[in-house]
Parts: sequence; C-alpha cells; structure tokens
Amino acid sequence: AKDQQVMGSTTDELVELDKRHFIHPTSSPKAAAEEGPGIIFSEGNGIYVNNMEGEAYIDGMSMLWNVNVGHGQKELADAASEQMMKMAYSSAFKGFSNEPAIKLAEKLASMAPGDLNSVFFTSGGSESNDTAFKLSRFYWELKGQPNKKKIIGTKAGYHGVTQASQSATGIPATHTFAGSNIKGFFHATPHLTNCELGDTTDPDYEHSIRALIEQEGADTISAVVMEPVQGAGGVNMPPEGYIEAVRKLCDEFNILFIADEVICGFGRTGKMFGVENWNVIPDMMCMAKGITSGYSQLGGVMISDKIREYIIGYENVMSHGFTYSGHPTACAVALKNIEIIERENLVSHVKDMEDELRKGLAYLEEKHDTVRNCRTLGLLAAFELYNPDTGETFDSSLQAAASVVNACFDRKLILRNIGDYKVAIAPPFVITQEEIKKMINIIDESITAFENTL
Ligand code: PLP
Repeated sequence: AKDQQVMGSTTDELVELDKRHFIHPTSSPKAAAEEGPGIIFSEGNGIYVNNMEGEAYIDGMSMLWNVNVGHGQKELADAASEQMMKMAYSSAFKGFSNEPAIKLAEKLASMAPGDLNSVFFTSGGSESNDTAFKLSRFYWELKGQPNKKKIIGTKAGYHGVTQASQSATGIPATHTFAGSNIKGFFHATPHLTNCELGDTTDPDYEHSIRALIEQEGADTISAVVMEPVQGAGGVNMPPEGYIEAVRKLCDEFNILFIADEVICGFGRTGKMFGVENWNVIPDMMCMAKGITSGYSQLGGVMISDKIREYIIGYENVMSHGFTYSGHPTACAVALKNIEIIERENLVSHVKDMEDELRKGLAYLEEKHDTVRNCRTLGLLAAFELYNPDTGETFDSSLQAAASVVNACFDRKLILRNIGDYKVAIAPPFVITQEEIKKMINIIDESITAFENTL
C-alpha cells in the first residue's frame, strides 16, 4: 500500500506536493517537476488574485482570457450553490432535460447573431470545436454530400487540444504534439483578403483558403473555422474586410463558416460576439470561457436554423453527446454570468476601456523603441518587442517577451507571452481607467527593466 500522504498546507509543502503529483497542462513537465509552481493562487477579487501569502496580483489576462466578470463574484457562487442544492446534475440524453439548460439555450438564441438559434452544450472550447466539426460533417451527410469532410483552419489559429481541435489549430507546437494530429485538416494564411475575394495574381495566393478549396475541391470541404481575432496565436487582428471575405467565399463554395468565439464571445472585443465587429453571421459559433467567466466548465456550439432544419429531421440517435452536455449547475452559472454582463453594461464598459488601453499601449510604443505593433480591440490587446538596432525581433535566446512578462510578474501584474516577442493583455471587464493606468505603468517599468539588461 502507498504511504498515506499528509495534506500539506504551507506554501512550501504545497509546492513539494505539486512537483511530485501534478502534471500541469501546457507547461514544461521538467520545469514543473523540478521548480514547482511560481505561484499558488488562493483568492480572487475583481481584477486581483492573491497568492498563499495574501499578496495581490493584477490578473491582466483574466487568467486564460476567461474570468471576464472578474474574480470573487458572489452571485455566481450563489447561483451554483442554489442549483447544486436543488439538483447539481442531471442528464440531458434521450428525453431528459433541465430548467437551467433550457433557459440558457433560449437566452443564447436571443443573444446570438442572425439565425443562430439552437445550441449543443459541451464542457469547454475544445469540445465545442470538435462538436462543430462533427455537426458540419453530419449536416453535409444529411444533405446527401457525405464527401464534404475536410476542415480548413488558419495558421496561428487556436482551437484546443482534443485531437480534432488540435488538428484544426495552426500553431505547430500544438498541432504536432505527440504526432496525434489527424488527417483532413488544412491551414490557410489568415489575412489574404484580396485572395479570398478572388485575386489569383496575389503572390501569396497559394496560401489562401480559396486556393486550398480549389486544390482539394469544394465538394470535399465541410467547413472553414476561424477565430474572429486570433488569441493564443498572438492576438492577431483580421485585416479590414477579411472576415466578410471569408463569409462570402464560404457561401460561394457551399462551405460552412464556423466562428470560434471561445475568447471573443460574451464581450471581450467590445461587442457581445466577435463576428459582430464585422456584421458577419457564421453558420456555427463555438463558445466556452466567457460563457461562465470561468466560474464553471461550460461550452457550446450555436447552430443556424438552416443546419438545425436538417438535424432535426434525423430519426436515429445522433451519436454525439457529453455527460456534461447541458450540465444544470454550469448552465445556471452561465445564466447568472450573462445577467451580470447585461445588467452591469459590461460590454459597453469594455468598449469604453478599449480607448484607455489603446492610449496606454500607444504611450509605451512612443516611449520605448523596443515596442511595436500594438493592437487593441475591446479588452483584447498585444504588443511586440523588437531590437531597435536591427529592426528585427530579438534573438530568441533573449526570450524578450518572457523577460518582460516575468518583470511584470515581479511587479505583481500577470500577463502572458506568446512566443518570443509577443505579449498579450486581456484584463477582466470590470477593470477601471485607473487600474488600466496602473497596469500600463507596471508594463512601462518592466520594459525598461528588460531594456536595461540588453
Ligand atoms: N478556441 C479558442 C479560441 C481558445 O482560445 C481555446 C482555449 O484557449 C479553445 C478553443 C480551447 O478551449 P478549452 O481549453 O476550453 O478546451
């Protein structure tokens, strides 16, 4: 028998237990096992999270771009508690349903753009993308076009880590991890507006979605999937006209357009859904993260009436469903979360704060000749670090972005580096103008600290 492990409670004891037993997601296993966690979170309040010693850090990333209404929202805890006391869980398979899931489905239908009026619930973003891919293929099968199976994603697009969502992801490290990417997924360069509109003379044409469609044949392609703004791939904004051009292209070739709104959805970009920045209506919309602000694990795929019409004609059992599809507690939390977003006008607050964040980043770019390419949409932003002597990015051995992020962390601000030279910022929606200024001051000092090491 194994020795009974005494639960640790001091930070040092917890670090030791973590090193020994916790395989961390998206982390270096060696560093995690040898060095242990850099912080153990114990509490959160608004834009702040505390470590075990009670020291407060600004959560400049809303953790994983998800704690949108901020930490410590008691109403969400109460909603979960209330539902758990009534009935924590019930199945939604075959004839079973529950009130929070029904009400949430109706609420989402009222919020989603266009004719996206039905939802398939999941437990997170990866499951939502897998579901969307399957449902897109199912739709074409039902329409008598079973060969339409291929999925086109974008380079630097991120859709999760289950095998299909990972295969749709266009970030090499994720895409190829453990050789488990599957066939039938393709990746286009995500900003070739002219090419998608039909300009075959563009030198980059071969990297466009349009070229991929021509190469593979539209009758083999099920869907195009993309984030309105790429998140984990670097907070990459689509150029003007791009999202609209892709919508047109999908219509032209009879291909479904799946918008991955896992980060953008529920207000992050200053609109309730990212696609609304371009007035585009996708055929399916993947959601997770902001649907509960991370207070519970929930995702979903919104489906257009056009797709629903075919699906509901299917008599046999649709062999797709998660134990937690329509989880009553998660759905109750989502309903309360959406109520808070609407009641507190958080989406328009995000839009208001966008200006302050953009101004702050412009100030950093003006002051530091290492800072370039600042971009902001709502409370989703990034800046890049360049070597002013060469005009190129710094040598990767310098780990420029990680150095700045570490310097921020030392100054009690949590940000995230993406690769060697990009730094992402995505604070909770409840952030104030003053708090954005404070965040920018810390970034300013941290960039200076990095520059002083050069
Ligand atoms: N899609 C996007 C755009 C994401 O940013 C993420 C996660 O970061 C996912 C999908 C995967 O979501 P999850 O980690 O909940 O499976």
